[in-house]
Amino acid sequence: MFKLDKLGPIRQSLEAIVGPENVRTDEAEILMYSYDAGMARARPEVVLRFTAADQVAPVIKILHAAAIPFVPRLAGTNLSGGTIALKGGAILNLSALKKIHRIDTENRVAVVEPGVVNLELQNALAPFGFFYAPDPASQKVSTIGGNIGENAGGPQCLKYGVTSDNVEKLEVVTPEGEVKTWSYRDPGPDLMSFMIGSEGTLGIVTRAWLKIIKKPEYLQTSAAAFSSLDNAMLAVTKIISSGIVPRALEAMDSVSLEAAGGNSKLSLPNGTEALLIIELDGNDRTRLKETAERIETICAQNSSTYFKTAGTEEERETLWAIRKGAYPAMARLAPNVLVEDGVVPRPKLPEALKETREILSSYKLTASLLFHAGDGNLHPNIIFDGRDMQEVKRVKKAGYEILKSCIRLGGTISGEHGIGVEKRVAMAWLYDPKTLYFFKSLKTAFDPEGLSNPDKILPISVDNRHQVPVAPADLSAGAKTILDELRLRAKSGTKTLVLGSGTKIKASAHKVRPLRLKNLNKLLDLDRENLTVKAEAGIKITELKRQLREQGFALAVPGLEGSLGGTIAAKTFPEIRSLLLGLDIAMADGTALVLGGKTVKNVAGYDAVKLFCGSLGAYGIILSATLKILAADSAGDPRLEPSGEKKALAFEPRDYHYRLKKVLDPENLLNPWIYGGTG
Ligand SMILES: Cc1cc2nc3c(=O)[nH]c(=O)nc-3n(C[C@H](O)[C@H](O)[C@H](O)COP(=O)(O)OP(=O)(O)OC[C@H]3O[C@@H](n4cnc5c(N)ncnc54)[C@H](O)[C@@H]3O)c2cc1C
Repeated sequence: MFKLDKLGPIRQSLEAIVGPENVRTDEAEILMYSYDAGMARARPEVVLRFTAADQVAPVIKILHAAAIPFVPRLAGTNLSGGTIALKGGAILNLSALKKIHRIDTENRVAVVEPGVVNLELQNALAPFGFFYAPDPASQKVSTIGGNIGENAGGPQCLKYGVTSDNVEKLEVVTPEGEVKTWSYRDPGPDLMSFMIGSEGTLGIVTRAWLKIIKKPEYLQTSAAAFSSLDNAMLAVTKIISSGIVPRALEAMDSVSLEAAGGNSKLSLPNGTEALLIIELDGNDRTRLKETAERIETICAQNSSTYFKTAGTEEERETLWAIRKGAYPAMARLAPNVLVEDGVVPRPKLPEALKETREILSSYKLTASLLFHAGDGNLHPNIIFDGRDMQEVKRVKKAGYEILKSCIRLGGTISGEHGIGVEKRVAMAWLYDPKTLYFFKSLKTAFDPEGLSNPDKILPISVDNRHQVPVAPADLSAGAKTILDELRLRAKSGTKTLVLGSGTKIKASAHKVRPLRLKNLNKLLDLDRENLTVKAEAGIKITELKRQLREQGFALAVPGLEGSLGGTIAAKTFPEIRSLLLGLDIAMADGTALVLGGKTVKNVAGYDAVKLFCGSLGAYGIILSATLKILAADSAGDPRLEPSGEKKALAFEPRDYHYRLKKVLDPENLLNPWIYGGTG
């Protein structure tokens, strides 16, 4: 922890930038910034309040030179202790950076500062007939910067994607105080998407270019009640796998309904155990009506006891008030609430809920179950009294058991709330030591001194008492052969040309040995209910699309000539980032990394999957990829026939590209000419 006397020599310089009134060390201010919406507490030594975005870089330069750690902070509503100053140092209060610079409806982009509150942006967009898709339940207070820091989601992210899918470009102040502007379309690795969800540990966002969407003409919102939670979950799986893409598909159990007064407000039948809220949107009223009827039929086939479509805006608002009121209603029942945030592949929801209920009952805890059902994202809201240490222990243990259950079911430990301090220990249950080390290397590449929001996301030590056996990487025979070969080459220092199907480069020109991937061409897993496909990297996009079509599914990627791995690595269709859920990677030393998987939301650790988009085979070799797919009869869905950039842009590596190369392939063994020299 740094001592306050370190501040002495730099205080004047800081005051010169932000003003003396904004360098705060008084007790009231320090106490106020010692906590956030999570359970952790720690005192910063100083709170710096910014009134202009261009103050951030010079302040970071000073803090960096003085080796003072810093934590960017906005509304502090994160639920994982992400803004707690674990190492003391400075809290960077960015909440006065609230300018909406531009709303450009022609190019469908809004340019904003990080302190803009999510709902204020929605309100500013409404008169133009536009909206910004991410809509966390905290949107009345949480900010765009915080949403980016956590890769926040919300009900309508089911159709429109999470924060990461809705950002076009970011201005970032690096942990050393340099200003960078990154877009996901830039040639080379997708540094912009990699920043999103990094919880302030890789730098500070000072400006964001956000994708804005034209408001659909019609909304159709329905509620379906069930006398069993299992039946409600079966209906969810059927709705999704039938190709319907609701704007939102939310679920509440009887405890949430009771707390939010849902039973009486909607006159639900006695014995209601679960309520689904299903919202559709579009510009074709007839089609919406037909889809709502299909949904009603699916619910009836799964024994729904009630189905009602809101006939007026007031009725629609009542439904959402019940959903959005459930958390505050629970919070009124006890001094504290822990909101868990595990995710499972959607067809595993019934099992996950059964296990969650058993765990809560075995720890004698009261909780409501609220969840973004369409995303497989569970939010048990456990109420407790934080002054009762025994109860706190039980709550923490139950939370951990729930996360382990999600991992066992092929899921992950956070869908939208982040890891922060509170789930660091659980990272070691989800990832093997090699992957954790890989994440640590990424952090080191961006922040060698470890000053930007230190000690977050990664576990300090692996706690074996809680170890859940993680299934060994389920790799194909072809992938294992590649790994064996890379291990041999690494031993002898042999450099490799990664040969995808469309590679034009000649091995002889670079004194490298080719490694062909075209035999990695199998479709490994088609999960019809989850709407995901896993395929080996060498399969051609056209072939993958053909095989999917035969099975009644579609991939929202243009009919490109190249292979799946090549399309990702060369970023010939940058929008593929929004379809990518997981990658299996062979690193230069022949070890395998399993990143992401079959859950449609995942903010556990750095979004390294995005880093391999545009990595050109120089950071690691993509062995296979898991992607979201659509049911082929999602007729009229514009995503079915996307137009795409079909040519990779010329890539000139720069600073952060080199830094990443150095930690991921220090011997420059893979496609070595990209980073200079052929050995
Ligand atoms: C009642 C309630 C409901 C919630 N519902 C949802 C929900 O539906 N969906 C959801 O996703 N979350 C939800 N959350 C969690 C929380 O609101 C989100 O994580 C939100 O995105 C945090 O925004 P914030 O402005 O409060 O950020 P903060 O909590 O201040 O910061 C969040 C993280 O971002 C980092 N950060 C802050 N500013 C920057 C910056 N400029 N650059 C880089 N990093 C930065 C911080 O260091 C921290 O790690 C809920 C929370 C509550 C209390």
